[in-house]
Amino acid sequence: MKPFFISTAIPYVNAPGHLGHALEFIQADVIARYQRILGSKVFFLTGTDENSLKNVRAAEDLGISPKELVDKNSAKFQALKQPLNLSWDDFIRTTEERHFKGAQKLWLACKADIYKKTYAGLYCVGCEAFYEEDEIKDGRCPEHQVALERIEEENYFFKLSKYEKQLLELIESDKLRIVPASRKNEVVSFIRTGLKDICISRSAERAKGWGVQVPGDSSQIIWVWFDALPNYINALGYGEDGPRFQEFWEGEGTKLHVIGKGIIRFHAVYWSAMLLSAKLALPDTIFVHGYITVAGKKMSKSLGNVVDPFPLIEKYGADAVRYFLLREIPSAEDGDFTQEKFEERYNADLANGLGNLVARVLGLALEIKMYSPGDFVHATVQEALLKEAIEKAHKASSFAVEEFKFNDALLAIWELIAFCNQYIDQHHPWEASPNNWGGSKEKKIVGDLAATLQEIGNLLSPFLPDTAKEIVKECTLESEVRSNLFPRIWPSS
Ligand SMILES: [Zn+2]
Repeated sequence: MKPFFISTAIPYVNAPGHLGHALEFIQADVIARYQRILGSKVFFLTGTDENSLKNVRAAEDLGISPKELVDKNSAKFQALKQPLNLSWDDFIRTTEERHFKGAQKLWLACKADIYKKTYAGLYCVGCEAFYEEDEIKDGRCPEHQVALERIEEENYFFKLSKYEKQLLELIESDKLRIVPASRKNEVVSFIRTGLKDICISRSAERAKGWGVQVPGDSSQIIWVWFDALPNYINALGYGEDGPRFQEFWEGEGTKLHVIGKGIIRFHAVYWSAMLLSAKLALPDTIFVHGYITVAGKKMSKSLGNVVDPFPLIEKYGADAVRYFLLREIPSAEDGDFTQEKFEERYNADLANGLGNLVARVLGLALEIKMYSPGDFVHATVQEALLKEAIEKAHKASSFAVEEFKFNDALLAIWELIAFCNQYIDQHHPWEASPNNWGGSKEKKIVGDLAATLQEIGNLLSPFLPDTAKEIVKECTLESEVRSNLFPRIWPSS
């Protein structure tokens, strides 16, 4: 089995997860499930980034210790696994010992490119990054719009500049593939403006002792990004020379990072350079998704429009939330969420499209009374038109998933669903002459449609795993009671 490593970014835990985190988890989950179906040996990783100065400040505000804060908030991210039906294999927290070990080991592996100097710069605590004067407007962070802090201290630096040519070559040649192409171009132009060495530590005093200590220097803490990025290999056992590290990272398999557009520079440039410096393998691909807006506005605490995924899952179910995020949000661009859009998508595609088809086909099968439980199991489609439509959906959806275009993949499957609904309308088996009801013609149509339903179930399984299972189960006809897959919802207005 071919090893396939896939990771999400590890979110900061200074605030609970929102719909944007759910989107990234779900996108990565689809890829992981798809690869497992293909027969790959998948290792799907996520986790939380807990060594940030932001946590120290947030904990201070709440009057609790940083450890209490990160324990509480990390648990909220882990709690998304079951309700969203996510299939990650490991969850790494950067406060774990295995992570500390690995982060320090990587520091030492990069040692030849690390030096000390006094530095003054503009720092955003939100980004945990320094900004150059030409990157900002009115002294504010371009990502957070907050005033930046001027900081001066003696820190360690990493010779990022040394890797400029090598990184450019790797990315331009797609040896390190960045998807979509617009993001690749963004990274290439950033590198072309010239890479400067980066500050990779801060005083333990400023960090209030929170974080991973620089090996051999108790006065310095590793900069949170230089500490967080190695989480990907630390979870594989880099720190203790574990066998998974060799198998999933240094071996022949695929290594894929799924990240949001705001942190592309850290992954494509800084992380790659760190790996080059430590003489370790690089990821093959970085897939970059966009952000979710709410009624056209960026989700933010200050606007009070942050969408909590839990109530949505509770009300509509995991698969309805998964479907909306995968179908409505263009996978590599920004997409918009509103309650109305959610309900429209649900009613049009899930209730009227898929739910209706399953109810019609299995309702007919029961009415004809020519089928017994198990008749449809392993049934194959006979009708050429249906076979063709299935083949087309298979090809188009696989192609789209390989290109991380989840919305296109679902579109292709829904074309098949629409085709089946039309097929029933055209052949109207329910209108066969009363004397002949249940004749061989109807039996063939319904049998073909039931076999097609199972194909639809298989196609859906990476995207809507519970629904896929339910469809295949219903096709056994073991229960006379049909479950209503996606009952229509009435606008909540
Ligand atoms: Zn910022």
